[in-house]
Amino acid sequence: MRLILVGPPGAGKGTQAVHLAAHYAIPHISTGDIFRANIKGGTELGKLAMSYTDKGELVPDSVTNDMVKDRLNEADVANGFLLDGYPRNIFQAEVLRGILTEKQTPLNAVLELAIEDALIVARLSGRRTCKDCQASYHLLFEKPAVDGKCDKCGGELSQRPDDSEAVIQNRLTVYAEQTAPIIAFYRSEGLLVTIAAEGDVSEITSRAISALSTKVS
Ligand code: AMP
Repeated sequence: MRLILVGPPGAGKGTQAVHLAAHYAIPHISTGDIFRANIKGGTELGKLAMSYTDKGELVPDSVTNDMVKDRLNEADVANGFLLDGYPRNIFQAEVLRGILTEKQTPLNAVLELAIEDALIVARLSGRRTCKDCQASYHLLFEKPAVDGKCDKCGGELSQRPDDSEAVIQNRLTVYAEQTAPIIAFYRSEGLLVTIAAEGDVSEITSRAISALSTKVS
């Protein structure tokens, strides 16, 4: 299964990606997670990425496209992959199409998580992430068993720096202007599957699997 997840910040892409990647037994490739790991590790890529992620801006295409191309050449993507947070604009979508055409491994589907604008800020402001294993939680919808601690590894939960109110607003603008156009791009390619990203996490996962059932390979 070669799958892309698309949707505004706060639609639950990261959460659904973990469940869907486990269901299809494919690697979950999140460009945001790769940037955050590099920021945490203090690498050159991390230093560069942070100057954009901190403001909610997109990291330059040349950097992001090369990073994804390298990742898609790793052995574990032989049986497919789930891309979360990439592509983020039409140029990235075109570059990805070129990479996959060359490898003769076209996409099976693009899953759009659709959500009302009013829900987005509530979702983002309650979001918490484990500093150690990056597992995600939500203060209202997916609470950890012990406040502030990761259920999986016991790590400390924190709020992403780009989930502050001001940065959220910019991320939404960037999404509307740069990322939303890829939905029409993939619809015209016959790859788009849209589901409502509202309700329980497990309910949304089941909805996604059932909507994708005609596209699985
Ligand atoms: P995410 O975790 O997907 O919300 O990504 C967090 C931040 O990483 C974004 O706000 C961007 O600054 C950066 N980022 C993630 N994916 C991309 C991408 N495909 N292109 C450019 N920047 C990205």
